[in-house]
Amino acid sequence: MLFNTHTHSTFSFDGSNSIIELCEQALKMGVSYFALTDHIELDGSEFCILDFDGYVSQIERCNSMFNKKGLYIALGAEFGWANDCDTNLISKCNFEYIINSVHSFEYSDISDKKSYYNSYLNAVLESLNAKYNYDAVGHLGFVTRYTDFEDNRIDLDTFGDKIDAILSSVIQKNKILEVNTSTNRSNIVTIPSIEILKLYRKKGGYLITFASDAHRKEKLIFNFERAREVVKEAGFEHWYIKKNGNLERIKI
Ligand SMILES: [Zn+2]
Ligand SMILES: [Zn+2]
Repeated sequence: MLFNTHTHSTFSFDGSNSIIELCEQALKMGVSYFALTDHIELDGSEFCILDFDGYVSQIERCNSMFNKKGLYIALGAEFGWANDCDTNLISKCNFEYIINSVHSFEYSDISDKKSYYNSYLNAVLESLNAKYNYDAVGHLGFVTRYTDFEDNRIDLDTFGDKIDAILSSVIQKNKILEVNTSTNRSNIVTIPSIEILKLYRKKGGYLITFASDAHRKEKLIFNFERAREVVKEAGFEHWYIKKNGNLERIKI
């Protein structure tokens, strides 16, 4: 089954296609489930779904048009975590699927990989304790998309303790770990990397999901097959999605 739990439409500042265009593309590609997860940045910045009612009603309309054709669209959001969140934004939400992501964080030295990555990982660790409810942890390793270090991986030799603490918390809180294929780097297929996924599995983690983080329709299931190979090699047997309020598993 082809699916994706992380997509953006024109309700996000950086999305290129309307919800209906994404649905039509999904049908064309044989995708039977996707979650619309447009941005809600909790730091109060303007990067948010602006027309919340329009967003909900378009997803409802698309479900009534496309469910009979075998396509389910989950009403979701990607929360951009902030230390000091804007609770007004959260109170608007009645989402079926929420990704908790770290997009911005405080750091002291962007040119020093160890210091910069540690700042990011500290923010991720803190974000897991968010006061709001969420389902999945977004793109663990987000910083590797944009940094220019010769070796830009989050390697376990250097960052093992922090990654271990994050994975323990994800498991303890029963959250889904996203396998995100929007990486910007040819040497990295998934965020988190296979090395981190193997550690998660070894520690007993099993809740994973496929997330292409598509900002345009052509990327709806970007690198699905490669991600499948990665998670199989890392020892996973099932993907998980949220549908009709329940967690469903899909054979990998
Ligand atoms: Zn994100
Ligand atoms: Zn995203």
